[in-house]
Amino acid sequence: MEFQYRNPEIEKMPRRELEALQLAKLKTAVDQALRTSFYKERLGKAGIKSGGDIKSLEDLRKIPYTTKHDLREGFPYGFLSIPRDEVVRLHASSGTTGVPTTIYLSADDVKRWSYFVARCIYGTGCTRADVFQNMITYGLFTGGLGFHQGGEEVGMMVIPSGPGNTTRQFRLMQDFGTTVVHATPSFLLHVQSKMQEEGVSRDSVKLRKAFAGAEPYSEDTRRRIEALLTIDVYNSYGLSEMNGPGVAFECQAKTGLHLWEDGYIGEIINPDTLEPVKDGETGELVLSCLCREATPILRYRTRDLSGFYTEPCECGRTHKRLRRFTGRTDDMLIINGVNVFPSQIEEVVMAMPEVGNNYLIVLEKEGALDRLIVKIEVGSGIFADDARLMNAIKEKIRKVLQASITVNPRIELHEGGVLPVSEGKAKRVQDNRPKGL
Ligand code: ADP
Ligand code: ZN
Repeated sequence: MEFQYRNPEIEKMPRRELEALQLAKLKTAVDQALRTSFYKERLGKAGIKSGGDIKSLEDLRKIPYTTKHDLREGFPYGFLSIPRDEVVRLHASSGTTGVPTTIYLSADDVKRWSYFVARCIYGTGCTRADVFQNMITYGLFTGGLGFHQGGEEVGMMVIPSGPGNTTRQFRLMQDFGTTVVHATPSFLLHVQSKMQEEGVSRDSVKLRKAFAGAEPYSEDTRRRIEALLTIDVYNSYGLSEMNGPGVAFECQAKTGLHLWEDGYIGEIINPDTLEPVKDGETGELVLSCLCREATPILRYRTRDLSGFYTEPCECGRTHKRLRRFTGRTDDMLIINGVNVFPSQIEEVVMAMPEVGNNYLIVLEKEGALDRLIVKIEVGSGIFADDARLMNAIKEKIRKVLQASITVNPRIELHEGGVLPVSEGKAKRVQDNRPKGL
């Protein structure tokens, strides 16, 4: 395969040089961090008075972790390191897990961020000839503007459609010959269902690629979207604390997400002991931002679970690859004492051909016990009044799921289009169990 690189000298830089570059940038980031009230105190306590105190990349471990809680404590300006009037942009996280946190950017920060997103987009084979429909939320959420700027930096024609209104999305695709879209994986599945429902023929659109991220999804979900829409789907990872999209992205080999190590330093730790895991093991991703002056954030505990591949990528890029994310440390459900990640359920469900494009995990209390109910839309053409067939499908899903998660679920089958669809991040879990019991 012919791989396409935006900036080959950096993307294929020998590891030794890349690490030297990281060290130099880390020193600068520490100096910058010391200009914030939060890090002045936090780093001061750890005996770090200037970037010069960091003599090697190993010294990174002298820097204490920063948590989401710290960011909230530091609200609004505890992490700001430049004069307020040099800030040109504010963004915030979507607040999936509580109060949102804010991030500030200088004009140079915006340029650097766009450059990283452009590198991701270009690395999937896109060029200025592409027409890019950005079907994700604009606004404080970083996915909208982040990809918008990155797309323009590549030179593509960007259509800022935002999410929702599938009829209008199809019109835009047909009128302007959209070749690439960006959306959450759940919205892409919804788009495919709607395309069928509204009778939009595949030949009437020129779509060939999609960037899908902002929420975890399984390899089977990717394959499903690729097969249903006959496109290539690339996994995109980012978080507002690290600018947003452009942190890690799949290349054309589609075997893990390259973490852009000239912009970020990644570590994988055991979330309980806070020690690094062994090479290749799964744990919590910790990121330090090397490419933002206005809001320096070091050793941020993302709560996202992944691990590094140890073998190099066939594309020749030297930046380490992260495995597909399986969720967040705080996603874990405890069902009658058994730990279950929603991603384990998705993996089973989305691999089954009878299953349609949407599902929902519901938890209820039945007497003293927890009850797991998985509501599943069946594939088009399957929903019928044939009770025997439906029962057989239910029983098949129930068995496979129980074997995988060791909890016995109740399966409910629904017709396509019945379960709620979110325009932003999918809400896959509805926990109706009374709290505090
Ligand atoms: P939050 O959702 O924490 O309020 P953001 O809007 O910044 O904040 O979203 C970032 C989070 O979205 C990440 O920390 C991660 O949990 C999730 N995420 C983003 N991209 C992916 C992806 N490709 N795979 C899995 N999870 C992702
Ligand atoms: Zn690669």
